[in-house]
Amino acid sequence: MFNLSLEFKHKFDVLFIMSKFRIGIIGAGIQGVCNALFLQKKGHEVIIFDKNEPGSGASYGNAGHFSPYASVPLNRPDVLTDVPAMLLSSTGPLALKWNYVPRMIPWFFKFLRNCSKKNMMHTAKYMHQILDLALPAYDELFEELDLENLVIKNGIMYIWNNQNIESRNLEIKIRNELGVDQQLLNPKEIHDLEPNIKPIYDGGVFYSYARHTNNPKRVFQKLFDLFIQKGGKFLKQEINELNFDDQKPIIRSQTQRFIFDKVVIACGAFSKRISDNLYEDIPLETERGYHIHFKGCENLISRPVVFSNRGFGMTPMEQGLRVVGTVEFGGLKNPPSAERVRNLINNAKYMLDGLPEHDDEWLGFRPTLPDFLPVIGPSKNYKNVFYSFGHHHLGWTLGAISGKIVSKMILDEKTNLSLEPYSSLRFS
Ligand SMILES: Cc1cc2nc3c(=O)[nH]c(=O)nc-3n(C[C@H](O)[C@H](O)[C@H](O)COP(=O)(O)OP(=O)(O)OC[C@H]3O[C@@H](n4cnc5c(N)ncnc54)[C@H](O)[C@@H]3O)c2cc1C
Repeated sequence: MFNLSLEFKHKFDVLFIMSKFRIGIIGAGIQGVCNALFLQKKGHEVIIFDKNEPGSGASYGNAGHFSPYASVPLNRPDVLTDVPAMLLSSTGPLALKWNYVPRMIPWFFKFLRNCSKKNMMHTAKYMHQILDLALPAYDELFEELDLENLVIKNGIMYIWNNQNIESRNLEIKIRNELGVDQQLLNPKEIHDLEPNIKPIYDGGVFYSYARHTNNPKRVFQKLFDLFIQKGGKFLKQEINELNFDDQKPIIRSQTQRFIFDKVVIACGAFSKRISDNLYEDIPLETERGYHIHFKGCENLISRPVVFSNRGFGMTPMEQGLRVVGTVEFGGLKNPPSAERVRNLINNAKYMLDGLPEHDDEWLGFRPTLPDFLPVIGPSKNYKNVFYSFGHHHLGWTLGAISGKIVSKMILDEKTNLSLEPYSSLRFS
């Protein structure tokens, strides 16, 4: 009996050791670090590579919203009728870098195909599936941190005027169908919540359970420090391709060679270069977005406020009032556009009186697939390579849940989620 139990214990140890992998993650944004932390929870050894400082990509300058309600996608029938007017309007959210238009055409045709009602509802359903789990997944990471009031639970508010009201009604209807908790607001209720906003609105919606951070960079840094404290390693190296030794991925930098059991690609909008090298044509593009700050103006509002008609928002941040928005199609290499910054300044002044000169112009790259679903899961051709990118406007919100899902996929653990909609195979 004694021997038997010893033998059983020995087998258990062997099983435990066998299940511990050496994992390389390429990309130290919110996706990379959240993947790393959930993998560490399962006992794996993790090294993250990034060509830049950790957390300096899109995860640095976003609006800081944790938006579990945001299931209604941008691929939808009504967007098509709105696009020409949006492109012509200097106050609208949409812009093109004309030199990039020829390269955008294939992506844009794929996007058009995804604007049917059926495809819109498919995206909404599967965004809702993961968005609904986004905050609990973060709580699993945040419970190990002292967040020092960096995550604020004051809700998030959207306001609008009656122009394009059909689009607002469609959004409300879809959220109702999905069971998203939303509190519609009349002008008086908006004024009561945010008295400094000029009365430019006819209605709005409030998500009282949504959260925001007043400094995404500091939240990222806390997560990253936890990763290092738990024995994680970071190497500042650019990685552009993988080699394989009998299916085991090899990451080769200029000076070193690392062999891993598994590799996760989490390079945000830059991930396509690596997936192309893995012989997989994933139609990843970038929606360029901007932010500016109005220093000392963060107390003008108590929570993030988004003006739906103009597709931009304002978040009270430690750096000041952060004004964030615009969707500009122009690729990864074009310089920032002064007109897009002007658009943000004018829009902010349209909503609030007394704003001073702005500071800190920033351009970031949202990673976006034409069906507005992320790619989460194994690569088509290499079973030991996993993807976690393409989270477009919601990659900050979806960091923890994506990491949790990948950490389960790597061990082939069952979940009660439908994960095929996020597979890269949908583009094959
Ligand atoms: C203006 C704006 C506002 C936004 N607001 C919100 C919001 O309020 N809420 C929300 O949920 N989402 C928001 N988003 C979206 C969100 O910021 C992104 O989806 C998210 O940050 C993407 O995270 P990521 O880790 O995939 O990419 P990133 O943060 O961009 O990280 C990718 C990392 O990969 C590295 N990398 C790239 N190529 C290589 C290589 N070859 N070798 C090594 N390293 C490499 C990069 O240096 C970078 O550090 C916003 C985005 C923008 C632009």
